[in-house]
Amino acid sequence: MVGRKLRFSAWVAGLCGAIAAQAQPFHLPTANQALFEPGGEERFFVGTPGKSWVSGAFGCVRSDGWQVHEGLDIRCLQRDKHGEPTDPILATADGTVAYLNRKPSLSNYGIYIVLQHRIQGVEIYSVYAHLRRVAEGLSLGQPVQAGQEIGTLGRTANTATRISKERAHLHFELNLLINEDFAAWHKQRMTGERNDHGLWNGRNLVALDPRQILLTQKLHGDHFDLVHVIRSQPELMRVMVRETDFPWLRRYPQLIQPNPTARREGVAGYEIVFNFNGVPFQLTPRAASELPSHARVKLLSVNESEYKLRPGRRLISGSPGAWRLARSGEELLDLLLYP
Ligand SMILES: [Zn+2]
Repeated sequence: MVGRKLRFSAWVAGLCGAIAAQAQPFHLPTANQALFEPGGEERFFVGTPGKSWVSGAFGCVRSDGWQVHEGLDIRCLQRDKHGEPTDPILATADGTVAYLNRKPSLSNYGIYIVLQHRIQGVEIYSVYAHLRRVAEGLSLGQPVQAGQEIGTLGRTANTATRISKERAHLHFELNLLINEDFAAWHKQRMTGERNDHGLWNGRNLVALDPRQILLTQKLHGDHFDLVHVIRSQPELMRVMVRETDFPWLRRYPQLIQPNPTARREGVAGYEIVFNFNGVPFQLTPRAASELPSHARVKLLSVNESEYKLRPGRRLISGSPGAWRLARSGEELLDLLLYP
């Protein structure tokens, strides 16, 4: 009996461990933990040349707010005798290898890795860019565990201005995926533009702030709720679409808000709330009687104070009272609703 009891308590402990691991799924992708230390920003982020650490954080942090940086630029901690970075890059969460770009000449991200994760039911993709190398033996589709070494920090990129030794950093992103038919959309809409990276083209990924996610997880511990973090993004704009079936609804059903009227009368479209970076973080089904126009896509409202704060994605243009979707906003909606 004693033996059985022991085994049972070991099982319970194991189960609790598994639940805890799920509740705090994200790990920092290098040994640099200064993000969690008060005043540690200078030691965690690498800014752009001549700018403060803020330009290495996520958001509208470049070109006076008019350029979005979609990830975190994380400072290296270790160098070899030539001054080149040697920090191991670690998988941020359990997942599988979705994409490897081993040719630095093909991307401004240089050598990079994309991992696919399913965290609390949410399909999310982590990106590790500017690597020096991919870990030996790492291959597409391979399962990886949180904290597992997947590469080495570097400064690869195909840009004319190279990343200096001093600024060697990991560019780290957490993304949601817009459309699995991206290749067809790209071929049809972006004629003449090459797509070297399949689904993992930057146009098909919408980035969340990894710092916000990591700090919220730290604060909430085992009560961390990724869906809640996504759903509580500040609203930039509301758009009505006269479409009832598109990939985002199937991939992220957690973001759908119930609406009794649409349930009763039938769904004729969706009202979608976007954050500043184009993340469709709340979707409400609407009945035909609730749709304000016959247009396929209609901009309903703009949160002007949010736009003033974070305009960098350039989703809208115009002026107060006369806003319209800008080209990048139209393109985002077109891809979201494709085909
Ligand atoms: Zn970066």
